[in-house]
Formats: sequence, C-alpha cells, structure tokens
Amino acid sequence: MRQEIAVSRKALRFGILLHVRDVVRYRTTLLTALLGVGLALAAMATSQAKPQAPSSPANPAPAPTTAAPSSLTRQPAAAAPSQTQFVSRSALNIVVLDPAHGGIDLGARGTEGIRESEVVLVFAAEVRKALQAQGFQVVMTREGNDNPSFDDRSARANAQHGAVFVTLHIASTGLAGTARVYVVPDIPPSNDANALIPWDRAQGPFVGLSHLLGDLVQEELAKRFRGSPSIAQVAPVRQLRTTAAPAIAVEISSVIVPERADLDRMVPGVAEAIAQGIVAFKPSYVLPVPAGTPGGKQP
Ligand SMILES: [Zn+2]
Repeated sequence: MRQEIAVSRKALRFGILLHVRDVVRYRTTLLTALLGVGLALAAMATSQAKPQAPSSPANPAPAPTTAAPSSLTRQPAAAAPSQTQFVSRSALNIVVLDPAHGGIDLGARGTEGIRESEVVLVFAAEVRKALQAQGFQVVMTREGNDNPSFDDRSARANAQHGAVFVTLHIASTGLAGTARVYVVPDIPPSNDANALIPWDRAQGPFVGLSHLLGDLVQEELAKRFRGSPSIAQVAPVRQLRTTAAPAIAVEISSVIVPERADLDRMVPGVAEAIAQGIVAFKPSYVLPVPAGTPGGKQP
C-alpha cells in the first residue's frame, strides 16, 4: 500500500466543501424553532380560550397571561412527544468497498506475477458476498481493471447516507498470512469561520468512529490470522482522508508469498472478519434523527 499524504490538486480544484456539521446544526435549530412556534401557538390558543372575566379599573381581572407560562412548561412533555422525540438508530446500512489500484496502477508486485490490483478484486468479491449475507448494501468503487482517482473513490462513499468505507490492499511487506487495519490520525478541526469542512479534511468528524471500526475489524482479523496486530494502526492513508464516513484500510500480507494459493487461502477469513467487524460496529454508528422523518425510519 502506498501512503500518500499530499492533498491532490484535483481535490483543491474541486473546492468542494462538506457541510456535515452544518446539516446536524441546521436540523437541531430548525426543530427547536418549530417547537418554539408550536408552543407559542398552543399558549395563545389556551389563553384565548379562557373566558375573560369582566374587568373594570377598580377591579382588574387577573392577567390572562398568567396561564401561559404554566402551559408553556407543561406542553413539551405531554403534548407532542412523538414529534419532538429524538431516536438514535443505527445509520449504517451501506458499505463502500474499494479494491485499491487498478488500470495501469498495478500496486505491489510479487512472486509468480502476483499483482496487487488483481488480487484485491478477488478479496473484494468475497467481502461483498459476506457483507450482503449480513444484510448490507455494497457499493464498489471498481469491479473491473479500471483505476478511479482517490477523489472519485471518496466521492462514491461521500454520496451515500449512512455508509462505511473499506479500502483493500495487498502489502509487499509484513509477515505472510497476517492482516492489518489502518486508520488516519486525528485531523484538527478546520479554522473556517463558517464551520465548513474542506474536502481534504472530510474524514475529520469521523476519526473517532473510524478508530472504533478499525479496532473491531482488526480484532476479527487477529482471531483468524495469527501474528496480526490486536488493534488498528494509525497511518496517514491518503484515500481515507477525503472520505466523509467511518473509513478503514485493510492490508493483507503479502504479495511476497511462495505461492499465489497462500493468498487465496486467506480470502474467506478476511471476508468473514471484515463482515463480522462491521456487524459489531453497526450499533455504535448512530445519528440523532427526529422520529417521523424519513431519516428516522429503520433502514
Ligand atoms: Zn496498495
């Protein structure tokens, strides 16, 4: 796997900004505003419905507004819980699978003419089946021998709602028969006054979830492949940085094996480990969504 730290010029030229935080903030603000309007209308209706006592300058009626504060404080709990209650449901139902390299980029090359770009397709096909068996929808960044750019691959993930991203590599190093998960280090928040997240920092808000996902997948890999690490490793993997979703790189060792069959034997275990790791991660990937909205429906 090549770790490319530099942000591509293409990404900068796109000037694409993500609004992840803004969307969350906007939803919350909108709901608060709607709730406020609803309560005010309810309070007005209550006070208008109250019979007005005859008043005179000498004997002023109790101010009708005294009813409003108590109705305001009672209203939220009793009146409209179904509209204001937030539900936390797993947002995860899509896995974007990225067989790295492809086209003229062969990736690592090893014994018996083993090419990383070809072998990852074999692994990806099996990972896809294992994920589908667990009920996930799988989106591939490539299925044939083409080579989408880093940004094209990230864009596939960033276009999904409630996805995780897994990029697959075969290393030219490492103990043969082991597998490692990589996640990016923390990305400092942007200084942008509008709280927009630049394309090249898209992973920023997801780093914590990515580390959790990485550890869970690594744990499953370690069960099946002795000598693998017990937790995910941190590395500035270029592909992950532009991905606005929990994202990991899985690297299998290695293209330097005596026989291609040694790699092929790892395929079922890798597929099962990734699928089981994502299943274990699923309950942790929750987004607050208001009940009764399309986003609040169980996937
Ligand atoms: Zn690679």
